[in-house]
Amino acid sequence: MIIDGKSIAADIRQEIKSQVDEFTKKTNVKPGLAVILVGENPASLVYVSQKEKACDEVGIASLKVVLPESIPQEELEMKVEELNNEPAIHGILVQLPLPDHLDEKKIIEKISPEKDVDGFHPVNVGRLVVGEETFVPCTPQGVIELIERSNIEIEGKRAVVVGRSNIVGKPVALLLLQKNATVTICHTRTRNLPEITNQAEILIAAAGKPHLIKADMVKDGACVIDVGINRVDGKLVGDVDFEEVEKKAIVTPVPGGVGPMTVVMLLKNTLQAAKWIVEGEKK
Ligand code: NAD
Repeated sequence: MIIDGKSIAADIRQEIKSQVDEFTKKTNVKPGLAVILVGENPASLVYVSQKEKACDEVGIASLKVVLPESIPQEELEMKVEELNNEPAIHGILVQLPLPDHLDEKKIIEKISPEKDVDGFHPVNVGRLVVGEETFVPCTPQGVIELIERSNIEIEGKRAVVVGRSNIVGKPVALLLLQKNATVTICHTRTRNLPEITNQAEILIAAAGKPHLIKADMVKDGACVIDVGINRVDGKLVGDVDFEEVEKKAIVTPVPGGVGPMTVVMLLKNTLQAAKWIVEGEKK
C-alpha cells in the first residue's frame, strides 16, 4: 500500500481554508505569515514561492521579505524584531539555510516564540519536550498526520526513527513518544542498523541517504515514512528503496509523500499563531 501524501495534504488544506474563513469572519483578522529570505539560494526561492502560493490558496496573507545576501547580522535581527512587533503578522519564518556569515541560531532565538511557526525556537522545542501546547515543527507534524490519517495506530507500537537532527529526527521521535509508541532513535554511530529497523512496526527514514533502507531492513506489513529528499542523477529519491519496500510494507513515495505535508503544516501553525495571538486561547 502507498500513502498518498499529496491527496492527504489536499484534504487538510481544504480543512484549513474553512478554518481560516471562519476565524477571519469571527475576528475580522486575516492570519499573516512573514517569510524572510536572505540571498538567492535557488532551492530557497522555490520553497518560499511554494509557501506564498499555499498561503494565498487558504486565505492567509503572506509577506515576503527579501534581503540582500550581504546583510549584517544586526540588520537581520532588527528586521526580525520589527516583525515581532507587527500586529498584522502572526507567524515569522526565516528560510534556512542562511549565508555563512550569519548566526542562524541567534536569528532563530530572536523570533518571538509566539510567532515561531517553524517551531525551531528553543522555548518551543522545550515546550515540545515537556508536552506543552506549542508550534510543532512542520515536517515532523506532517509525518504524524500521514500515519494517523492512514488509520495506522501509533499507541503501543514499536517505532524506529533513523536520523536525529533537530528539525526532523528528534521532534518526530518526541511526537511518537507522546503518542505512546516505544521509540528507538538511530544515527550514524548506531551499530547493526538492520537489526533495529527490522523490529519497527513504524519506521521513519530521515537520514538524507538515498536508498539507505532496503527491503531486508523492513518488517513485513510495517508502516514506512520516507522523509528523505535526495537528488540522484537529476531525479528526486527518498531514503527508502521504494520499489522493493512497497512490496512488503505501507510506504510513502518521494516525491508525493511527506513533502506536500510540510507546507500544509506551516499553514496550520500560522492559523494557530493567529488564534493564540488574537483570541488568546493558549493555555
Ligand atoms: P541531517 O543531515 O541534519 O540529519 C541526518 C541524520 O541522519 C543525522 O542525525 C545522522 O546521524 C543520520 N544518518 C545519516 N546517515 C545515516 C546512516 N547511514 N545510518 C543511520 N543514520 C544516519 O538531515 P535532516 O535535516 O534531518 O533531513 C533528513 C532528510 O530529510 C534529508 O534528505 C532532507 O532533505 C529531508 N527533509 C525533508 C523534508 C520534507 O519536507 N520532506 C523536510 C526536512 C528535511
